[in-house]
Amino acid sequence: MSQSDPRRAIPRTDALLASPALVEAAARLGRDTVRAAVTGAQERARRGEIPPAEVEAAALAALPTRASSLTPVLNATGVVVHTNLGRAPLSAAALEAVLDAAGHVDVELDLTSGARGRRGAGMLAALRAAVPDAGGALVVNNGAAALVLATTALAAGREVVVSRGEMVEIGDGFRLPDLIASTGARLREVGTTNRTHLRDYADAIGPDTGCVLKVHPSNFRVEGFVSGVGLAELATLRRPDGSPVPVVADIGSGLLRPDPLLPDEPDATTTLRAGATVVTASGDKLLGGPQAGLVLGDADVVERLRRHPLARALRVDKLTVAALEATLRGPSTPVHDALHAPVDELRRRARRLADELGREVVPVEGRVGGGGAPGVPLPGWAVEVPVEAVSRLRQPTGDVPAVLARVDDGLGLVDVRCIPPDRDADLLRALREALAAPPA
Ligand SMILES: *Cc1c(COP(=O)(O)O)cnc(C)c1O
Repeated sequence: MSQSDPRRAIPRTDALLASPALVEAAARLGRDTVRAAVTGAQERARRGEIPPAEVEAAALAALPTRASSLTPVLNATGVVVHTNLGRAPLSAAALEAVLDAAGHVDVELDLTSGARGRRGAGMLAALRAAVPDAGGALVVNNGAAALVLATTALAAGREVVVSRGEMVEIGDGFRLPDLIASTGARLREVGTTNRTHLRDYADAIGPDTGCVLKVHPSNFRVEGFVSGVGLAELATLRRPDGSPVPVVADIGSGLLRPDPLLPDEPDATTTLRAGATVVTASGDKLLGGPQAGLVLGDADVVERLRRHPLARALRVDKLTVAALEATLRGPSTPVHDALHAPVDELRRRARRLADELGREVVPVEGRVGGGGAPGVPLPGWAVEVPVEAVSRLRQPTGDVPAVLARVDDGLGLVDVRCIPPDRDADLLRALREALAAPPA
């Protein structure tokens, strides 16, 4: 390298790391991340791709915007509970509770006495208040964990009796038969794919029965010559010694009370009244809260689950405790608002965006999603965009949020249903950028 080689002018690593902008970045993103960006920029200068004077700016430009690689996305798919987008977005109340809980909190402490308190007592009280028919409540990591805990505690080494019509795969690798097998319980299938009768269950019940499991086949519907057995009938089943058989009902979606918009979607209150011993459900589907698995029902059975050693391995962290209680006690959730958004309001919002952009609006059908209510279309409105804009919306270059739109029949569709109305201005900026870009 000669004396006049411009590469000699490349700033040294420690000098760069001491620059105010990079010190600030290191405080936000971590020193290793910043050092990697600096090294990368120095490399580019050595290769002659950038002048030495631009190394600092190049390092800054190469830094990620946030410490986590998760990128916030505006959900313009019209799918309310979108599993790939993290299911339910939290309400403002839940978000605030999560921020409070991120520091030290009294999650297992009684501040009055200074003694140890019951973990998540406020959250469990909120759950019991929301479902007064449940004598007991327990919260674990997710719906699958709730089911694993229930079948392990009630039937490990024994039999779980399930209708063949309910041997479902929910998605996300959730296959009921595999899940039950993993608990050490034996699956006892009864009936046929389309029809199961009470006598099928009765014939299968014996001294070795741990529980009966009723699963809501949430992501498909069987029509035609179909019959199943209701919970009221299942609740009458007895072992040969006359003891009742616990009936576990996996309702999935986490509705706590009926929703007139979703008449076929089971809810915890109705399911318990119908005779289920315990109900299991997810926290981040229609309940609109954090990922969690709810167990609600008979106080003794819930207590048995709570005392099982596995419960400790499935317990939720303080952020979930905080978010779930705030979801239960707080105002209406984003999931509820998106589901129940008045169609006129959706049209008005889509129209306003389309007018700003010189585009057209189209009527669309949204979906509940998350494997719930497959037969329920949600009429709404979308802004129509060229298909090429859809991938640009996902990967914005400017200071605009990423947007997940959908493609239907050759049209790019930006459905406003799941975008909070106070984000319409951000959505407009993202659309402007995506539509302004030259065709790819
Ligand atoms: C979604 C669902 C599950 C799985 O719940 P996770 O919270 O995803 O673990 C189980 N059963 C039913 C019926 C479901 O809909």
